[in-house]
Amino acid sequence: MNIVQHFVDGEIWGGSATRTADIFNPATGMVTGKVELASATDVAHVVAIAKNAQVRWGAQPPAKRAAVMFAFRDLLVRHTDELAELLSREHGKTLPDARGEIARGIEVVEFVCGIPHLLKGEYSEQVATQVDSFSVRQPLGVVAGVTPFNFPAMVPLWMYPVSIACGNAFVLKPSERDPSVVIRIAQLFHEAGLPAGVFNVVNGDKEAVDAILDHPDVDAVSFVGSTAIGHYIYSRGAANGKRVQALCGAKNHLVVMPDADMDKVADALIGSAYGSAGERCMAISIAVPVGEKTADRLVEVLAPRVAALTVAPYDDPASDMGPVISRQSLDRILGYIGEGERAGAKLVVDGRNVKLQGYENGYFLGGCLFDHVKPDMSIYRDEIFGPVLSVLRAQSYEEAVTLINDHEYGNGTSIFTRDGDTARDFFSRVRIGMVGVNVPIPVPVAYHSFGGWKRSLFGDHHIHGMEGVRFNTRLKTMTTRWPSGIKEGAVFNFHSGS
Ligand code: NAD
Repeated sequence: MNIVQHFVDGEIWGGSATRTADIFNPATGMVTGKVELASATDVAHVVAIAKNAQVRWGAQPPAKRAAVMFAFRDLLVRHTDELAELLSREHGKTLPDARGEIARGIEVVEFVCGIPHLLKGEYSEQVATQVDSFSVRQPLGVVAGVTPFNFPAMVPLWMYPVSIACGNAFVLKPSERDPSVVIRIAQLFHEAGLPAGVFNVVNGDKEAVDAILDHPDVDAVSFVGSTAIGHYIYSRGAANGKRVQALCGAKNHLVVMPDADMDKVADALIGSAYGSAGERCMAISIAVPVGEKTADRLVEVLAPRVAALTVAPYDDPASDMGPVISRQSLDRILGYIGEGERAGAKLVVDGRNVKLQGYENGYFLGGCLFDHVKPDMSIYRDEIFGPVLSVLRAQSYEEAVTLINDHEYGNGTSIFTRDGDTARDFFSRVRIGMVGVNVPIPVPVAYHSFGGWKRSLFGDHHIHGMEGVRFNTRLKTMTTRWPSGIKEGAVFNFHSGS
């Protein structure tokens, strides 16, 4: 039995806790390992180690910290296949998808290879007579991260490379569902030259998270996960005086204008709604065709493609998408599909009858497509987080914009159109953090910042890019006036000797 422990002070560490959680293979429903769940005492031990390690690390010249990042990046590239295998085995996503996730995470490491430049301050000469002023960004101290199951490598990589490059020490509490890949990455980070204690992984559940939120030596918490937990983490962390960013749930709309190329729209929707079995916070879960004709055409083009999706285990090269993460997830998604039917939406493609020989107990669900969805239905309001796409027919562009702006989530959205004026108006007016035009999943690259609006993000900083640098540093501003110095009375020439 594979037992996943913690990674602390540069090595695998057992901790003192007695509780464990099962790790499953989502394709078979079998338990493949156990992860140890840290106690509050374990967390206190790890935070003390991180606090101690941060003192020397934070005092290193940024260029030295960057040198570790260059080596880390190289190791991640070289070990991508091994990491993808570890990741997919516990998560269930296809291997190409896992490799893509790791590649996007590596881009954040590449971004922070430039940390000396990113930390450059501001300087104003002569803010008053003979007075100068400058500002620098200094590390916070110990930063913690709490991350979700759906991107077990990439989402943590959004956080700790930036934080550590800024001079902090980091304590990561990954998802207990797929914890193995992060432990391996932590080993590679140390192989790259990171001093022990600067990056620590502590596995656990609510007990460990609460201990992080209450610990006085944790200066900031980055969270990515569901909205209910994110709001809790934001509230409790902030009440304890910490800086908190909590990136949360989503319900992303894709507006289809009558002038859009319908084949391109269908391709975009297949990838963005069903990729990774819909378990992405930037998945498109609502298509909003404008006008009945657009809607009819969209459903006609889309339905056969959804029905043709291949659902199979992660290592089957034919697989378009793997299983969902757990039995509870599958039951929750099936519950929503039933609610949608009872509320009167039309289930155009029903993926519930998928059966895979040899994988009868796996958490597989085929692609599902609903038409005639209405705004008051739970399948429209709630984040389903599965391979279920809803079509909500809007009668006008204005109705589409209002729908998006009235929704409680504000992570991502997209519009497909050939009209620049419509696209510009859309970008300007939607109350959403990340907007795509003829791009289905507008995930910002590493040197821009990722984050939603409304109940998709609590706190005021987005993640990675310059927002990540700001979140992980505090500003210090110095104002200087120098009295007349040695240049006034000093003699600089050689003494003549006479
Ligand atoms: P989750 O909220 O259940 O878990 C996230 C983390 O919180 C895990 O580490 C978990 O151990 C911890 N946690 C769970 N319950 C807790 C509790 N009661 N107290 C303290 N900590 C607790 O989320 P998940 O199911 O792992 O991930 C899916 C969710 O993450 C979806 O809602 C998805 O939209 C969201 N997500 C958002 C983004 C984004 O950038 N906005 C990115 C990826 C995923």
